[in-house]
Amino acid sequence: MKATLIHGERDIRLEDVPNPVLHAETDAIVRVVAACVCGSDLWPYRGISPTTEPHRIGHEFVGIVEEVGSAVANVNVGDFVIAPFYFCDNTCINCRNGVSTSCLNGGWWGSDDRDGKFVDGAQGERVRVPLADGTLVATPEVPDDAQVPHLLALADVMGTGHHAAVSAGVIKGSTVVVVGDGAVGLCAVLAAHRLGASRIVAMSRHADRQAIAREFGATDIVSERGDDGVAKVKELLDGIGADCVLECVGTKESMDQAIRSARPGGMVGYVGVPAGGPELPIRTLFSNNVGVRGGVAPVRGYVEELLPEVLAGTLAPGRVFDLDLPLSDVAEAYAAMDERRATKVLLRP
Ligand SMILES: [Zn+2]
Repeated sequence: MKATLIHGERDIRLEDVPNPVLHAETDAIVRVVAACVCGSDLWPYRGISPTTEPHRIGHEFVGIVEEVGSAVANVNVGDFVIAPFYFCDNTCINCRNGVSTSCLNGGWWGSDDRDGKFVDGAQGERVRVPLADGTLVATPEVPDDAQVPHLLALADVMGTGHHAAVSAGVIKGSTVVVVGDGAVGLCAVLAAHRLGASRIVAMSRHADRQAIAREFGATDIVSERGDDGVAKVKELLDGIGADCVLECVGTKESMDQAIRSARPGGMVGYVGVPAGGPELPIRTLFSNNVGVRGGVAPVRGYVEELLPEVLAGTLAPGRVFDLDLPLSDVAEAYAAMDERRATKVLLRP
C-alpha cells in the first residue's frame, strides 16, 4: 500500500510500504477514507523538531473497518469509524479518569505499540489499529461524503478545541479570547460558542481565517499582537480581559498573549503543542489569580458527546478543511499548510 513518510525538512514522500496485518486479537485493520495534515506535523516539516531518520507520519483519520481480531466486539467489518489521534483501551484507570492520552496501554500512530509491533501512521491507505474496541468509535451508518470532513474533525481538532474550552471553564455567558487561528483555534471558537459563551474574541491576522471564526461564532476579531493585542482585548472586555482564554498555538509568544489576556481570576485553557519554550510566569499568575489548565487533549472521551451533533448537522467543524487533495499530492498538502495557502488540508487515499 501507499503511505506517507517524512525524510527530513520539507521532504515528504508517498512510498510503497507493507500492508498492515492483524497482530493481536484486539486489533482492527481500517481502510482510510480521509486523513489530514495537522499543524503539529509542520514542526518536523519545518525542521523545528529534527527528523533523524525517515518515518511514517499522520495521526488523524476516519475509515472503514476491513478486518477485526477475534476479541474485538464494539466494531464490525464494514463499519465507518473515527479514530482519535492516539490509540487507547478506554478502560484503564487513566482512561476512566478522562485522560485517555495517558492510557496505560495506549500509544501513538506511526510508532510501536506496547508489544513492540509497528502501528501505521494515518496518512496512508490502511492502518492497523491496536485496542480497536477502545480506540475506535463507529457511526450508526456509513456517512455520505459531505459528512466526512466534520467526522474527521472529531479525530483531533474539534476535540482539542473543545478541550481548551472545557479546561478554561467556558460556561453560558463566559467572555472568551481565543489565541491562534489555525484549525484548532477555529474549533475552539466553535466549542466556546457551543458552550454558550456570550462574547468570543478571535485573535487572527488572516482574512480567510477571520471569516471562518465569524461563522463559528466569534463576536469580535483582534488582529493586533503583543501589547497592542492585550490593550485591544481589554478595551473590548470591560477593561479587564476575558473570563476564559483558549491558547491554541504553543509558542512562548502565544502563551504570553493568553495569560495577559485573562482578567484577574480568569483561566487559561491551553492545548497548543509546546514549541519554542513557553514558560509560566508564576509571579504574574499569583498577582492576578490567573489559572492555567490543559494539555494534550483526550479527544477520545469527547467523541460520544460531540458525534450526535455532527451527525445531526448542528455542529459542523469540517469547515476548517479548505483544501481537499488526493493522498498522492501529500507533499503539496504540507507545502500549502506551511505557506498558509490552506488552513487545513484533507487527504483522500
Ligand atoms: Zn487506558
